[in-house]
Amino acid sequence: EESDRVLAYFERIKALEPIKGADVIEIATVLGWRVIVKKGLYKVGDMVVYCEIDSVLPKWDYFIGDRLDKCQFKIKTIKLRGELSQGYCIPIKQLIAHPERTVTVNYHKEIKDEIVELVDTNTKEVIPLQIGYNVTKFIGITKIQDNHGRGRGGGGTSIFSKVMVKSNLLEFPSFIRKTDQTRIQNCPHYLEDFAQVQFEVTEKLEGSSITAYHHKGVSGICSRNYEIKNVEESVEINQVLLKDLNILERLQKLKLSIAIQGEIIGPKIQGNIYGLEKSEFRVFDIFLIETQRYATHQERVDIMKQMELPWEDYGVPFICEMKLAGKKLSEILDMANGFSQLKGSRPKVLREGLVFKSKSVENNRVVTFKSISNQYLLKKE
Ligand code: ATP
Ligand code: MN
Ligand code: MN
Repeated sequence: EESDRVLAYFERIKALEPIKGADVIEIATVLGWRVIVKKGLYKVGDMVVYCEIDSVLPKWDYFIGDRLDKCQFKIKTIKLRGELSQGYCIPIKQLIAHPERTVTVNYHKEIKDEIVELVDTNTKEVIPLQIGYNVTKFIGITKIQDNHGRGRGGGGTSIFSKVMVKSNLLEFPSFIRKTDQTRIQNCPHYLEDFAQVQFEVTEKLEGSSITAYHHKGVSGICSRNYEIKNVEESVEINQVLLKDLNILERLQKLKLSIAIQGEIIGPKIQGNIYGLEKSEFRVFDIFLIETQRYATHQERVDIMKQMELPWEDYGVPFICEMKLAGKKLSEILDMANGFSQLKGSRPKVLREGLVFKSKSVENNRVVTFKSISNQYLLKKE
């Protein structure tokens, strides 16, 4: 399934630090990300285009320099001289000077050197030079394809291969939210904003997102991005959600307007990192359609009890409860490193990461973010 993830945007260099024994590179901080840059290229406060991990840059060797030639440049988590580097920075000047792109540069009326916007000369698209402005499409960045839904080796073994055909897909219901989690590196201010809030920490399972809903007498099953018309076309989804869990009947019996969201994991999904012999479904969230917000931990536990699918058995693995007060970003990231706590997993499987959810409703929502294990990311490469 295609992604609409924002992979590149304008940001400022927050800090620069030297790397021991390195004289041509240094470490820049952008939001909560640490990224290696060419030494002396930037000053603290400079605006750059920041590209997140999983970006594939277009075949613009110009961005990269001669070292990487004209290959498509994939941005992954790397370790250089003992330092983790995640992402890639492009100087604004290089964006403008690129020979394959004709842009008009509009400067500030009074401040001569200050660029206020770029205009794509061909498409007339206006790109304001504002923090956070999404330039993924403008630059032509795409996402590294992960193995969603596919088994080891990929190919025709996907649990979705038969269901994900156009004739079997409907638009994702507008009254439900698609599952997603922001990386803590993109919202490091949460550590202060929600310092005194109690968080529930669960393991982030590496599978495929499935949503089962019931609303106004209608029920259905969705993948990450679409509602599926004929679930029977997928042996696994049919077996696990409809036959084993009887999820739609349980929802209908309950008569609540809710969407149960969980991860399907198993032999044919995402390389089956847990070494499971049978597919299973692990709930991570319940969306309350009437109030248009996610259920709190307690509401989720109550609803699952009513459905006779106890959270302890059918939920994602519980890791701990905690407050963020006094925690550094690096500590939240280090916490993600560790082995999977999934029952039935083969031993010593590095987990993908953690998801944090506030136990209370803050400003009418449950606050959530993910902390992806850098150990896991490095091993994956
Ligand atoms: P990417 O965004 O890089 O494409 P992705 O498709 O794995 O990666 P993420 O944004 O990384 O999605 O993470 C959000 C997804 O994590 C959710 O859509 C959900 O399917 C999955 N998930 C797994 N475990 C949990 C959990 N414990 N809590 C919440 N979401 C979880
Ligand atoms: Mn995502
Ligand atoms: Mn995932």
